[in-house]
Amino acid sequence: MLLEGKVAIVTGGTRGIGYEIVRKYLNNGAKVVLFGSRQETVDKALAQLKAENAVWEVDGMCPKLTDAAEVEKAVLAVKDKFGRLDILVNNAGISQSTSIYDYKAEEFDKVIDLNVKALFYAILPAVKIMKEQGGGCILNTSSMVSISGQSSGVGYPTSKFAVNGLTLSLARELGRDNIRVNAVAPGVTKTDMVAALPQPVIDRISAQIPLGRPGEPEDVANAFLYLASDLASYVTGEILSVDGACRV
Ligand code: NAD
Repeated sequence: MLLEGKVAIVTGGTRGIGYEIVRKYLNNGAKVVLFGSRQETVDKALAQLKAENAVWEVDGMCPKLTDAAEVEKAVLAVKDKFGRLDILVNNAGISQSTSIYDYKAEEFDKVIDLNVKALFYAILPAVKIMKEQGGGCILNTSSMVSISGQSSGVGYPTSKFAVNGLTLSLARELGRDNIRVNAVAPGVTKTDMVAALPQPVIDRISAQIPLGRPGEPEDVANAFLYLASDLASYVTGEILSVDGACRV
């Protein structure tokens, strides 16, 4: 098992890509604490995971990710409970596609607050724990739009370019403390949002993807597993695209 004995936090772990990362990590021997936005969705995800495998060591919390003090408290609680923190996955995120002509400043703030500032808030306490214990691993969820931009909803690609900047810079700053920092940049992935689209729309999107289909959450979670594991012990400062070579 690739993550035997490791302790991980996965934000946005209640559904979609985050939920698959949680399953993949548990299946590979990690102890996982998922962070969700509401207690009901956290409880539902925990019940599903326990039903799948009763021996998995999984817990859940719902700190407000855009509140630095709440996030710090939650990260420290994980360290108190499990004695360490090896992997922090900053996955929670929101997207939107408003035209620039209709954009409100508050909308832009909301995207940046969750997609960028919340990552920073979780990283602050995590790196202190990781440095003290001799190393660790930080993984961020970026997006293919961090490479090409997108034609509406400018806040979302802006936030993901920032995620890449944070990732590359912290990889350089934290390497000496044996803390690796990487990001995964998914393409169109069949989470609730995409799976709910009518089949003709999915077919049209698929036609633009060289591999001929949207990604499954598991395709993306596999990249998170690799980067968290010792197989990637010399990989840091990498933005790993998992997008079927779709660069539209
Ligand atoms: P999703 O909507 O299924 O999941 C998003 C997760 O973030 C959920 O667990 C949700 O609870 C959490 N979340 C949302 N708002 C939150 C808040 N205010 N506080 C705490 N948690 C909150 O979407 P997903 O597709 O699984 O997205 C996961 C990540 O993948 C995001 O960062 C997203 O930008 C990125 N991504 C997704 C795609 C795609 O096509 N699905 C493509 C590229 C990047």
